[in-house]
Amino acid sequence: MTQQENQHDVVVIGAGMAGHCAAIEAARRGASVLLLEKTALYGGSTRMCGGAFAFAGTEVQRRNEIPDSAQLLEQDLLEAGKHRNDKALVHVYAERQYETYEWLQAMGLRFDKVSLSGSQSVPRNHSIDPVLVLETLHAQALAAGVAYRAGAHVERLLTEGEGDARRVTGVVLKNGERIGARGGVVIATGGFSRAPDLVERFAPHLREARPMGGHGNTGDGLRMAWALGADLIDLGYVKGTFGAPVAEPAPGKEEVAPRLVSAMYRGAIIVNRAGRRFVNESVSYKTIGDRCLEQPELLGFQVFDQRVMDQSSPLPTVADYQGALDAGLVKQADSLEALATALGIDADALRETVDAYNRACDGAEPDAFGRTSLSTGYGKPTRVETGPFYGLACTTGLTSTYCGLHIDVDARVLDVYKRPIEGLYATGEVMGGFHGETYMSGSSLAKGCIFGRLAAQHAVARATA
Ligand SMILES: Cc1cc2nc3c(=O)[nH]c(=O)nc-3n(C[C@H](O)[C@H](O)[C@H](O)COP(=O)(O)OP(=O)(O)OC[C@H]3O[C@@H](n4cnc5c(N)ncnc54)[C@H](O)[C@@H]3O)c2cc1C
Repeated sequence: MTQQENQHDVVVIGAGMAGHCAAIEAARRGASVLLLEKTALYGGSTRMCGGAFAFAGTEVQRRNEIPDSAQLLEQDLLEAGKHRNDKALVHVYAERQYETYEWLQAMGLRFDKVSLSGSQSVPRNHSIDPVLVLETLHAQALAAGVAYRAGAHVERLLTEGEGDARRVTGVVLKNGERIGARGGVVIATGGFSRAPDLVERFAPHLREARPMGGHGNTGDGLRMAWALGADLIDLGYVKGTFGAPVAEPAPGKEEVAPRLVSAMYRGAIIVNRAGRRFVNESVSYKTIGDRCLEQPELLGFQVFDQRVMDQSSPLPTVADYQGALDAGLVKQADSLEALATALGIDADALRETVDAYNRACDGAEPDAFGRTSLSTGYGKPTRVETGPFYGLACTTGLTSTYCGLHIDVDARVLDVYKRPIEGLYATGEVMGGFHGETYMSGSSLAKGCIFGRLAAQHAVARATA
């Protein structure tokens, strides 16, 4: 390939949700776009995720009479982040989420299921098969003229100029190949859940959490931009996700066994090996994840009854209790005592715990952990009483690292002095500032799409200026 041919308007690093959306947007605006993926198969964490998108004001919410709005979504994001989020970024999400929903629907993707999840004050998670989303985006990218290369490991960024004139002009691959980008480079390399050195440096409290992100998610984009003086933000808030089953799936069930299960938002309680609750189960699964890592053997057992099992909803939701039972991850028993024995937890303590919880559900006494809802103020907790009973041993997984490169509302990466690094953009899990202290379920996929498209728009304008 000649020097001339190895120049593009926009180079996107990482082919997950965020990178694909950036590449499509840029190509549809007439730019020449190169999408580079380190691994053999595109998708990263997006491929293995729950496929839930936090959108507000949708058709399915209207059909189910769920009162939601961009304002309420914005408020929930800020509340979840304990108001430590970058408010401007949150506002962009709120403003653009509905248009993003329509943009994806225009590709033929249908969001016709909605459910309640962590930090949502109304049911807002629109779940869809993430592999279908990826395949659709990939086909759209190719159709728009995006050049795609797998096995292309970007190692660092190219710059020209000094001081205020410095700008990012391309990338260097691990094999030494140099690729130019006239308008800009978009970093969409995902998080660093698979980089033990970065976990140790930025989130040592999570060194015992189970790494669950994409295998290529080793923080490469963070390192590249960090090397240029990028501002890193929210690193102190990285959290694990409660609900990773610890049992191995039964033979033959490996591919269909749920990676995450959260029955607590339908009414399960969570107890430790001693049969005692340790958290208000209605709070974010990120917060529950922190508490779980403080328990003996890092275990939390979700315990629930048939009433919860009846609300099972198949993958990709995290409510696939039936799937988890079929895969051998969930124990089933006719009595609480038998369930405790099957799970290896203290039977007398479990009985006492459930009795006290049920009294609190009846309003006869305050709940020991202040639980008054199923999730974030929505729904009433229900008694654990209708057999058969179910139990699932879980730990905290490090699915994602919601922190990283500080960006502005055009997705431009800021340096430590809060000035944009010319020609450099970031989107998706590698960006910081958006979530603040805690993450609202379903906000990562849509965030990657929203800021990826904004990055593309800005980079294309630079290329054609
Ligand atoms: C089990 C699980 C369930 C989840 N459920 C949800 C959910 O329901 N809703 C939600 O919003 N979020 C969910 N998340 C989080 C969400 O999946 C991710 O935050 C999101 O998919 C990240 O998208 P991304 O495009 O930024 O990164 P990814 O999808 O991880 O893509 C990044 C890509 O960049 C590539 N890459 C990395 N380094 C380089 C390099 N040097 N050169 C070239 N390519 C590189 C990687 O190989 C990867 O393919 C879940 C995560 C997990 C693990």
